[in-house]
Amino acid sequence: MTRPLLNRRLAEFGTTIFAEMSALAARTGSINLGQGFPDTDGPEEIREAAVRALRDGRGNQYPPGPGVPELRQAVADHQRQWYGLEYDPDTEVLVTAGATEAIAAALLALVEPGDEVIALEPYYDSYAACVAMAGGTRVPVTLRPHEGAYVLDLDELRAAVTDRTRLILLNTPHNPTGTVLSRAELTAVAELAIERDLLVVTDEVYEHLVFDGTEHIPLASLPGMRDRTVTIGSSGKTFSFTGWKVGWITASPELTTAVRSAKQFLTYVSSGPFQYAIAEALRLPATYFDGLRADLQAKRDLLSEGLAQAGFAVYRPAGTYFVTTDIRPLGADDGFAFCRTLPERAGVVAIPNAVFYDHREAGAPFVRFAFCKKTEVLEEAVSRLKRLA
Ligand SMILES: *Cc1c(COP(=O)(O)O)cnc(C)c1O
Repeated sequence: MTRPLLNRRLAEFGTTIFAEMSALAARTGSINLGQGFPDTDGPEEIREAAVRALRDGRGNQYPPGPGVPELRQAVADHQRQWYGLEYDPDTEVLVTAGATEAIAAALLALVEPGDEVIALEPYYDSYAACVAMAGGTRVPVTLRPHEGAYVLDLDELRAAVTDRTRLILLNTPHNPTGTVLSRAELTAVAELAIERDLLVVTDEVYEHLVFDGTEHIPLASLPGMRDRTVTIGSSGKTFSFTGWKVGWITASPELTTAVRSAKQFLTYVSSGPFQYAIAEALRLPATYFDGLRADLQAKRDLLSEGLAQAGFAVYRPAGTYFVTTDIRPLGADDGFAFCRTLPERAGVVAIPNAVFYDHREAGAPFVRFAFCKKTEVLEEAVSRLKRLA
């Protein structure tokens, strides 16, 4: 067979860096601060709710295509309670196999071959692959480091829109930079979308993980945006059950129907009993969400300070699980090479941000560490990283 097995659309996406780095962590006995998943499970009562659903025979057979009514109602109530957004649970909420399927289904449904999709670079690794699977062309707009934070250059965003642009794929709070887009930035995005008649798919899986009193603002809450925005949420990060894969979209009936058209042929349905448990999780009192935020903020501070003491320049994140560092103060400028030797040098695994860029050179000296780990694990990582100084 002379033809490559992997088709042209996917040829550029080999195995993800996470597989390589997790293998390296295992081989060297390193602390894995690469992939972003918590090393502690979410609330015990929610775990018990899943067990109860499973035992009671709720969700053990195919749940309804749009998701179980209890969860769709809970998602609608959550959007109203937190953001004042009204969605009809029957026509404007769709449950998905995590945010990952929501992203794939939205792009497969809304993008025509040849359409351009604008995404903020560095971006979450599935975006590029999903745009490619949809036959679209990705157009990265680079978030630039500026005075200790990453900022969106609105002129650059404006200049990226062409007559072929179909949608903007937004992510706030932003992985990997930890940026939370401000009301001013989101207003500019909204004005541009309205002016150029664009759809926006917005990945808000870290909506509850914002620090220092930073406000998460859903783009759909801005004037004129509700009916051109697909908002993606997920229980994985908010409730520390990343293996359950319960996500959702909220959008107008037309957009929801379109996304559902693709989703029904991807997984059809998933996570039956877990959907009931997440319906309960979304109704947890504010103290749960405050506690989660406070816990992660303390972990952010612990790791950020440790990284600074070890000699990194640190971009203190306003949200998410991740802190981005600049390795140049340590005399290095190639994040790939740095991350490949870090396990041997310091017994810690991190991810080179360049993998999240099309303009790899723009991300070359940056390295991402996850802080969604136990305090003692972070303390040990910090003490190991001091070897670098
Ligand atoms: C983790 C993550 C996802 C995936 O969410 P799942 O619900 O686990 O599929 C999507 N987007 C971003 C930015 C993430 O960090």
